[in-house]
Amino acid sequence: MTSEADSQPGDVTAAAGNPVVLYREDGPVAVITLNRPEYRNAQNSAMTYALDAAFYRAAADDDVKVIVLAGAGRHFCAGHDIGTPGRDAHESFDRQAGLWWDHVGKQGAESRYARESEVYLGMCRRWRELPKPTIAMVQGACIAGALMLAWCCDLVVAADDAFFADPVVKMGIPGVEYFAHPFVMGPRFAKEFLFTGDRVDAGRALQLGMVNRVVPRADLETETMALAARIAEMPRLGLALAKKAVNQVEDIMGLQTGMDSVFGLHHLAHAHNAEVGGDPLGGQTVRSMK
Ligand code: ZN
Repeated sequence: MTSEADSQPGDVTAAAGNPVVLYREDGPVAVITLNRPEYRNAQNSAMTYALDAAFYRAAADDDVKVIVLAGAGRHFCAGHDIGTPGRDAHESFDRQAGLWWDHVGKQGAESRYARESEVYLGMCRRWRELPKPTIAMVQGACIAGALMLAWCCDLVVAADDAFFADPVVKMGIPGVEYFAHPFVMGPRFAKEFLFTGDRVDAGRALQLGMVNRVVPRADLETETMALAARIAEMPRLGLALAKKAVNQVEDIMGLQTGMDSVFGLHHLAHAHNAEVGGDPLGGQTVRSMK
């Protein structure tokens, strides 16, 4: 959807001058686009930090009232990068989301826990707290780690071809790191979603309350931008406080503490996999997860 790369601080160049995240402004709306379409926008750390810089840029810019998070190409995002040539899980980055030390050079659970506290749970929580409305604009695949990106946005507008799944139980892992499942789809369906790993289409996601609206694929950008523009007419502080109000109540209902407790189970699963099979992902690959 975004044709031009606006090279600014916050864009991280993956290869050949091709930023992994694009940033543009359309009036009061900042559009941040995941830009690895050749890998269905699989999220590596370079993309995570570029995304963080883009969110910070939009948060700091007084001209930006609303932020849209998009994915270039046919799919919003296929999840965390577990197998592209740009996989960079063993590289160091300037950590931003918390005070955990660098995972590089550490062993076992210490390395995994430090890394995932930073790039997964920490980043998603930080983005959820961004004091401006955020809208995920989702087409095609929104799988596993991609759910975290959509769920930490305030609103989700889905194209009619969008589908959602968290198949990581196949890895023996009880859901992705940002464990919002019982909140975004209800506890009953969260169990089915996890137990089966099945895809949920946009219509079902709407019934479940996981998305705000479903629109024809051809109208996705127009409809999302129109919604963003309407929201942008509200006063900035009012929007920030309304967002905080809902987030605070979600937290009182247990979102944050639930996530913290489940993060421990998530890492128990990684550690079990590593202990019995030598691979924290339980021997699963991009191919076997399809
Ligand atoms: Zn993990």
